[in-house]
Amino acid sequence: MVKFLDLQAQYDSLKKEIDNAISNVVADAAFVGGKYVDLFEKEFAEYQSAKYCVGVGNGTDALEIAIEALAFPCGSEIIVPANSFIASSEAVTRSGHKVVFCDCDDENYTICLTSLESKITPKTKAVMAVHLYGHPCDMDGLLDLAEKHDLRVIEDCAQAHGAKYKGRDVGSIGDVGTFSFYPGKNLGAYGDGGAITTNDKELANKCRMIANHGRIKKYEHDFEGRNSRLDGIQAAILSVKLKHLNDWTNKRIEVANYYLESLKDIDGIFLPKREIWAMQVYHLFVIRTGNRESLNKHLIEDGIQTGIHYPISLPKLSAYKYLNQIDESFNANKNDKFILSLPIGEHLTLEEIEKVANSIKSFYNRKKNDLL
Ligand SMILES: *Cc1c(COP(=O)(O)O)cnc(C)c1O
Repeated sequence: MVKFLDLQAQYDSLKKEIDNAISNVVADAAFVGGKYVDLFEKEFAEYQSAKYCVGVGNGTDALEIAIEALAFPCGSEIIVPANSFIASSEAVTRSGHKVVFCDCDDENYTICLTSLESKITPKTKAVMAVHLYGHPCDMDGLLDLAEKHDLRVIEDCAQAHGAKYKGRDVGSIGDVGTFSFYPGKNLGAYGDGGAITTNDKELANKCRMIANHGRIKKYEHDFEGRNSRLDGIQAAILSVKLKHLNDWTNKRIEVANYYLESLKDIDGIFLPKREIWAMQVYHLFVIRTGNRESLNKHLIEDGIQTGIHYPISLPKLSAYKYLNQIDESFNANKNDKFILSLPIGEHLTLEEIEKVANSIKSFYNRKKNDLL
């Protein structure tokens, strides 16, 4: 069986370090806040080259808190790419603003700048740059547009820990970056977790206060906030795992390079483009095929797990029917029928990735012979 994700194998490889980290937190009773959270925030800020990092409850909260801290007038429009996880757009509406979807690039799947520009109105206050699948957005072009139209830039880095745009770490290029440590992400906790990164001291402070009942000091509440904090056990686990993240990312890139090379001559599948300016961390390796159902069935029969990210584009979800963006001629609105995510991750052996590539090749060979 070639697994899509294997968190047990990862735990087995780190068991001693992780168990030790957890028992330290328990022994110190540093459950909420405290030194393990402080340490991880410092390490993660450094890792992403951001001046500040605020640990929060999860990646969705990170987005909501960042949006609240940016303090847009109620009902502002925030532009979100049409292919993402619903958390990206949910955070906009939940914060009292209006989601406007724009299209994604047909080759690298991140936000399409032409489409983005066409959606800007006088009410637009921000754009969400989702570094989808681990591929950074075209940030120079995006920042130019943002400057021209006076927009804030929120980077949704939930899939892009360690990704770089022209050598710059994501999460500190725009005004604010948000991360998820959901277990299946490239850097995952043992439960929910998230973080906000920024170079803006005031903004970081505001986020920290919102996430902790509007206070810095106990019982001195400057305003109403909420409760969304990274807990000590998760922080200690994340500190252990962060030390291995570069190795894991390199492994993901190796797997991706193998797929890109071994599948490049197959007619009928489109491979994801890695832009020359991108250090892509391959949270997902997404191919496109007109034969998704039969190819997927063939892979499953060969014992290979796959996924689809995402099977319904955001504008087509029932939740967004009211926006009337279902029929827009977006790449994202048509590609959701063709995309297929192949297994990728540090858990895969060379044998396993060969198996995936060979299974795909045999599917297309059989198909070609059927036609003859
Ligand atoms: C996972 C994810 C989120 C949400 O993170 P949670 O920690 O699950 O709340 C937001 N945006 C994107 C692109 C994601 O993949």
